[in-house]
Amino acid sequence: MNNKNKRKLLMDRSIPGKVGATFPALDIPEQKLPDKSQLREDLAMPEVSENEIVRYFSSISQMNFSIDHNFYPLGSCTMKYNPKLNDDIASFPGFNDIHPLQDTSTTQGALELMYDLQNLLAEITGMAGTSLSPMAGAEAELAGMLMIRSYHLNNEDFKRKKVIIPDSAHGTNPASAVMAGFEVISIPTDENGNTDIDALKSVVDDTTAGLMLTQPSTIGLFDTNIIEVVKIINENGGLIYGDGANLNAILGKVKPGEIGFDVVHSNLHKTFTQPHGGGGPGAGAVMVSQRLVDFLPDPIVTKEEKSSIFNLSQPIKSIGKMGTFHGNFGALVRAYAYIRTLGKDGINAISEDAVINANYIRAKLQDTLDLPYDRICSHEVVFSAKSIKEKYGVNALDMAKRLIDYDIHPPTMYFPLIVDEAFLVEPTETESKETLDEFIDVMKTIVKEAESNPELLHNAPHNTPNKRLNEAMAARSPKLSWRDTKAN
Ligand SMILES: *Cc1c(COP(=O)(O)O)cnc(C)c1O
Repeated sequence: MNNKNKRKLLMDRSIPGKVGATFPALDIPEQKLPDKSQLREDLAMPEVSENEIVRYFSSISQMNFSIDHNFYPLGSCTMKYNPKLNDDIASFPGFNDIHPLQDTSTTQGALELMYDLQNLLAEITGMAGTSLSPMAGAEAELAGMLMIRSYHLNNEDFKRKKVIIPDSAHGTNPASAVMAGFEVISIPTDENGNTDIDALKSVVDDTTAGLMLTQPSTIGLFDTNIIEVVKIINENGGLIYGDGANLNAILGKVKPGEIGFDVVHSNLHKTFTQPHGGGGPGAGAVMVSQRLVDFLPDPIVTKEEKSSIFNLSQPIKSIGKMGTFHGNFGALVRAYAYIRTLGKDGINAISEDAVINANYIRAKLQDTLDLPYDRICSHEVVFSAKSIKEKYGVNALDMAKRLIDYDIHPPTMYFPLIVDEAFLVEPTETESKETLDEFIDVMKTIVKEAESNPELLHNAPHNTPNKRLNEAMAARSPKLSWRDTKAN
C-alpha cells in the first residue's frame, strides 16, 4: 500500500453494500425493533470487506514507532527492554486472575512475590525498606517527599520547609517537592556538570528539609561531588532524595544507600522491563533508609519471623495510601521475573553495557556534534546542535525529524534545559554494536545533509504518512476520531 492509501481512513474506504462478516441464519424468533424515536437513522458505519478491514488495522498498527520495530534512543525516559518472557509470566492465570480484594489467605503466592521484590530492590539499592505502591516515578517522588516531611514533623522540627534541587534534576523533582508542600531552592551545576558545592553551601541551613537530585543527572553524568553533597546536607539535618528512575546506569556498581541516600526510587517501567508506551502503566518503587521505614506508604508486605504467612501491613507512621490497593501488580511481576532471570551477574552486566554503549556513541560522534560536558558519561550522553544551527541554520528539531526518515526514533530534544539545542541520546544496554554503528552513520549523514541541503531537514520527515506536524495544534486539538463532514 502506498503512503497516500495508508492515510485513507476506514470510513473513507466504505462502499455501500459491502460486507466484512456474514451472520448465521436466525434460529430464534425475529424481534420487533423499538419505535423510530429510539433509533438513530444514519449511524455511519464503514462498509468494507473482511480483507480490507484486516489490512487496514494491520497497516495502522505498523505506523507507530515501537521498540519492537525500531532503534529507540530516547534519553532519560527510555524504554530499556521488553522481554516477551516477562509478559508471558505476568499473564499466568495465578497472577492475572486474582482480585485485590481477595482474602490474603488465597493470594499468598502474589504476596510472596511482592515481599521478595521489596527485598531485592532494597538489596540492589542498599536501602532498608521498600514500598511498591506508587504507580509512576513522579508518584514515588511525591511519596518520598511526604516521608521526608513527616520525618521532620515527627521530630517536631517544624521550620524545615525548603528543598534544594540542582538544575540538572529531572523536571518532576521540583514539581514533587512543591506538591508535598516544600519551597524549592534551585542551585546551579558547575562547569563539570556536578552539583556546585559553593552554591549548595550558600543556601543550606536549619530550614533545609533535604536535597533532591537525579543521579545520574539528566545530563547523563554521575555527580562525583555526591559524597560531599550528602555530608553537607546531613550536617545541616537534611535528608537526601536520589531520583534513580534510570538505575540501569549504576546497577550492581553503586548502592545509593551506601552513599547515604535516605530515599531513592526506581521506575520499574524503565529499568525493569515494564512496557510503558502511551503513558502507562507504570510502577515507581520507593526505597528508604532505616530512619524512614516507619513512614513508608501503605501497604507493604510483611512476614513474621519463622512464619511462612505473608500479610499486608501499614507501617506505624505511614504517610498513607498512594493509590488504590497494592500498586500495579503486573509491573511488579515483570520486574521480579527480570531480576530473577538476570541474577547478580546479569544485574552487573546491565550497567556495564549501558555505560559502554553510551560512551561508544559519545566517542564516535564527538567530532560531529557539540559535546557540552567532555567527560565519561553514564547511561546517556547529551550533545548539542548549537554549532550546526549557527553554521547551517538547522536545529536539533530538524535533525530529530530527519532521523524518522531513517527509521530511528528521535532522541530527547531540548531537555535538559541547561543545554542549548540539547540532543540527549540513550542507546540502552540491549543494543548491538551494529545498531549503534548504523545510528552513528545516520547522524553523520544527517549533518552532511544539513550542510548541503538544509531545506531537506527543515521539511523532514518525508517518508511518513504524516509530515511535519503543527505540534501545538496536535497536542491541543487533536483529531482522534472520524467525523462525518457531510452530516449536519
Ligand atoms: C521518567 C523519569 C521520571 C518520572 O517518571 P514517571 O514514571 O514518568 O512519573 C523522574 N525522573 C527521571 C530521571 C526520569 O527519567
